[in-house]
Amino acid sequence: MLVAAGFKAFRAKQVFHWVQKKSARSFSEMHNLPAPLLKWLEENTTLGGIFEVLAVNESADGSYKFLFALEDGRKVESVLMPNPKRNYWTQCLSSQVGCAVDCKFCVTGMNGFFRHMTADEITDQVLFVRRYLHERRPDAHFRNLVFMGMGEPLLNTAAVIKTIQILVAHAGIDLSPRRITVSTSGIIPGMEQLADADLGVGLALSLNAVSQEERERIMPITKKYPLADLLELLKHRRFGKNKRVTFEYVMLTGENDSMDHARRLVSLVKGLSCKINLIPFNPHPDLPYGRPDRGHVERFAQVLLDAALTVSVRWSKALDVDGACGQLAGDHRQRMGARGVDTVSRSKDAAKVAFPADLDFFATVAAEDDEEE
Ligand code: SF4
Repeated sequence: MLVAAGFKAFRAKQVFHWVQKKSARSFSEMHNLPAPLLKWLEENTTLGGIFEVLAVNESADGSYKFLFALEDGRKVESVLMPNPKRNYWTQCLSSQVGCAVDCKFCVTGMNGFFRHMTADEITDQVLFVRRYLHERRPDAHFRNLVFMGMGEPLLNTAAVIKTIQILVAHAGIDLSPRRITVSTSGIIPGMEQLADADLGVGLALSLNAVSQEERERIMPITKKYPLADLLELLKHRRFGKNKRVTFEYVMLTGENDSMDHARRLVSLVKGLSCKINLIPFNPHPDLPYGRPDRGHVERFAQVLLDAALTVSVRWSKALDVDGACGQLAGDHRQRMGARGVDTVSRSKDAAKVAFPADLDFFATVAAEDDEEE
């Protein structure tokens, strides 16, 4: 664009550097650019995909949850979590406004699908949050990204791939692909596309059941992309540097958490290089599932450990507040009267909203190398 407008090619690198590396939020910050270029940028481009920050909530454990408004007034969430032991931070990103996949245990799914996010909107979550962090904690190590926020990333694969390419670019933030995990409900074409792109990022499959029939009940998307096909694909395609896939298993009382389920889970993943994250469900008044108690979860985990599987249990925090993915946007929509674009408020006026749980899980899923260490 810049060359076509008569500027030297190196100016593009400078602009990229300002936008990505420095996370500039206005053109006026780009002090080494000539006035004609700044004027052209002001007139012909927009900076950043996030229109407004509606809320930033800090939890007692030091995590932050952000509620962003996009240009059309739609709202998305992102969470930033510290790993105090190892002194780095992980961000959980949204990739769609809402979600069409309709997992029966998910608040985002319950609220429905609105639209895909663009690559600049997805990327800008990172640029904003990274800058926010560094302004408050200059020594903070912003390191991991997980695509586990609102939306199914592999139904918006082209934008997600473009986002990753931007974020790992040496001239930009230069994140390590090894520190990025894409979580999917099992969208086979998207998984193929991600493997073809060969980005070196990790894959997490939200499994949550041990048979086709049981998975269909809680994840109807399985009718379209059968469990057997998913497992077959994982045997033959490479994701991440070591081909090891993470299986997420949300434990729902009486639905998928019996010891028989544990034994069948062992059989199901046999022969796959994998790691299993057990996530005791975080109850929500509008969802019909319960949370197994600690002893039950530990017995379930023991069955997997006895079969020499790598297992982590991700206990939610902040159970006294509603915490499932999508809750923040849902809450805010309710407060503002569900009026869509017109409801976007200035951030200083934004209502305080509940903080999410499940942070342990987001913070650690992209840190497998650490765990191996
Ligand atoms: S769990 Fe993920 S894929 Fe399923 S409905 Fe929620 S956001 Fe969509």
